[in-house]
Amino acid sequence: MSEALAPACAAQRTVTILANEPVAKDTYKITLDDPMLASQITPGQFVMVRAGLGNDPLLGRPFALFDVVRDSTGTPVAVELVYLVLGRGTAELSRKRAGEPLPIWGPLGNGFSGPPVDGGDVGFVAGGIGFTPFLALGKWWRGTASYGAQGQHTGSLVSLARLYYGARSANLFAGLNDFAHAGLDVRTATDDGSLGHHGFVTDLLKADLQAGWRPSKLVGCGPAPMLKVLAGIAHQYQIPCDLSLENHMACGFGACFSCVTPIREPDGTTDLKRVCVEGPVFDSRCVVF
Ligand SMILES: Cc1cc2nc3c(=O)[nH]c(=O)nc-3n(C[C@H](O)[C@H](O)[C@H](O)COP(=O)(O)OP(=O)(O)OC[C@H]3O[C@@H](n4cnc5c(N)ncnc54)[C@H](O)[C@@H]3O)c2cc1C
Repeated sequence: MSEALAPACAAQRTVTILANEPVAKDTYKITLDDPMLASQITPGQFVMVRAGLGNDPLLGRPFALFDVVRDSTGTPVAVELVYLVLGRGTAELSRKRAGEPLPIWGPLGNGFSGPPVDGGDVGFVAGGIGFTPFLALGKWWRGTASYGAQGQHTGSLVSLARLYYGARSANLFAGLNDFAHAGLDVRTATDDGSLGHHGFVTDLLKADLQAGWRPSKLVGCGPAPMLKVLAGIAHQYQIPCDLSLENHMACGFGACFSCVTPIREPDGTTDLKRVCVEGPVFDSRCVVF
C-alpha cells in the first residue's frame, strides 16, 4: 500500500513511555503519552507497537486498548496497554523504562459495537491475557466512561456486566481491582484451582445459563479453543456473541494479509478476512474454527 493510500492511523510515530510496571506474573502495564490516540481509540481497537528502535524485532506487535488515562479536566491524555511476555517482542518491551521513546501506530481495527439495545445483562468471557479489552468495554457499557467520538453517557447502558475471567494460575490475574472498581461482577477460574473455579472459565458461564441467567449479549477474547466453546454455548442458547480474535499480524492496517482468518459469509460460503481491518471483532456465528 502506498503511503498516500495508507490510513492516517497507520502512520508510525514515536511516543514517550510514562510508566511500564509489572501487574502480575510476566504481565506489564505500559502507559503511553499520546493525547491523540487517547482521544480517538475505542474499546476493542488495538495499537501496533515496535519494541525495538532499530530493526530487531522488525515487526510491530498488536495490543488491545486496556484503558485511557484522563487529566483532572477529563481530557484523554494517555493510553494504557497490558501485555504478557511471550517472546522476543514482549520481552524487549518489558525492559523499556519511563521516559524512553516507543514507535507505535493506531488506533487500528474495528472496536466493539454498542451495548444491546434492550439494556439487558451482558457476559464477558476472558481467557488469559484476553482480559485486556474488557475494562474499557465494561466502563463504556456501564456508562461510566466514553471513548473516542462517543458522547458522554449518563447511567448504565446495561443492567449487569459480568466478567468470567480464566487464567492458568492465580498469579497471572491482573486488573481484578480495576474490574471491581468499574462495577463488573467478576467470576474467576483457574486451570490449577489456585483461585476461583477449578476448571474452564466457560464452565462458569454454562452453570449460570443452566440456572436460568439470560444475558442479551456475550463477548469473548482469549485462546481459540475457549472462543470455540463460547461460540458453541452462544449458539445453543441463541445469545448474540462477539469474539475478538488475536491472530498474528505484521502491519495492522490491511496491507500484508498475514492475519487472515476464515469467516463464514451470509450465503454460507467462507472467505478469508483480515483480522486487523475487518476485525478483530467478529460475530461468533461467522468465525470458522
Ligand atoms: C488485535 C490483537 C490484540 C492483542 N492484544 C493483546 C494484549 O492486549 N495483550 C497481550 O499481551 N497480547 C495481545 N495480543 C497478542 C500479542 O500481540 C502477542 O502476544 C505478541 O505479538 C507476542 O509477541 P512476542 O514478540 O513477544 O512473541 P513472538 O516471539 O512473536 O511469539 C512468542 C510465542 O507466542 C506465540 N504467539 C505470539 N503471538 C500469538 C498470538 N497472537 N496468538 C497465539 N500465540 C501467539 C508464538 O507462536 C510463539 O510461540 C493481541 C493480538 C492481537 C491480534
